[in-house]
Amino acid sequence: MKSGRDNWAIDHLFDLATGRFAPSPTGPMHMGHLITALSSYCSVKQKKGKWLLRIDDIDSDRRSAESANLIIKTLRIHGMIPDTEVTYQSAQDTKYRYRIKQLESQTFSCSCSRRETSAQGTYHGKCYQNRRHQERHSIRLRSHKTIIFFKSTSNTKLENGFTESVDDFILKRKNGDLSYHLASAVDDGEQMTEVVRGDDLITSTGYQLLLMKKLGLSTPNYRHIPCLRFETGEKLSSQNMAPALANQRPVMNLRNALWYLGAIPPTNIHSVSAIIKWSIRNLNLTQLPEILVPFQNYDVSDRYRRTETIKPSV
Ligand SMILES: [Zn+2]
Repeated sequence: MKSGRDNWAIDHLFDLATGRFAPSPTGPMHMGHLITALSSYCSVKQKKGKWLLRIDDIDSDRRSAESANLIIKTLRIHGMIPDTEVTYQSAQDTKYRYRIKQLESQTFSCSCSRRETSAQGTYHGKCYQNRRHQERHSIRLRSHKTIIFFKSTSNTKLENGFTESVDDFILKRKNGDLSYHLASAVDDGEQMTEVVRGDDLITSTGYQLLLMKKLGLSTPNYRHIPCLRFETGEKLSSQNMAPALANQRPVMNLRNALWYLGAIPPTNIHSVSAIIKWSIRNLNLTQLPEILVPFQNYDVSDRYRRTETIKPSV
């Protein structure tokens, strides 16, 4: 059973914590993925909860079954096995379309081009009168510029909370694809008590919370952890050629991920299972660095040798 309570400690007492890692299958896992996966895994396992793996492949242009399989394999090699079967958003179209139907009275059919809408920054309301859903139109939620306030648990300034003014946004695209916000809000709202993810998704959280509330779903607790970035400030991603994790060196990869998070396991731990157990016991997500040390593609063994003497500042 899932609760919508606002306090991590209360969830811990009353319900089984449920969290997830939800990668888009656009390439192999990189160090940024590993940091997020490990953080979400430890967060629920510290509460003796369930950890789920959801493949966020709603975007038909960007999904690859090969990447999804590689991600599942990489997680397994790094000691993170989901507690239920892996789910795929692409296989749950019916569920999301049902949710759009539920919102029908609050949506409109929009024929505007992306260029037309992005020029102004906010949606101009041109299609508000198109209440019936039509083919080759997108479906937008009428959000009335709702102000959403939410807290994200963290050790940083994020604790103070965020205010998002949510603009009218797309639930279904003209080509029939469903939106990331819709699919994530439905899945997280139906199943999760907590969401641990990168701080690049803070803005998305406002949109998704609004959807959960409109759909009558309970809302998970959020923790946004700092993203791993290159020296240039750009976030690691498949698009910018972030190097793939070497599956033959999982212990070193896990040590590196922990190093970025400010945690250094003893050097006498040599197995994946032991380092995962150590992480669950010792990784303190309330004590993360505010910003992660920029990623540099050192040879992993070099990096770890450095970590024995240089601990990142927290
Ligand atoms: Zn429009």
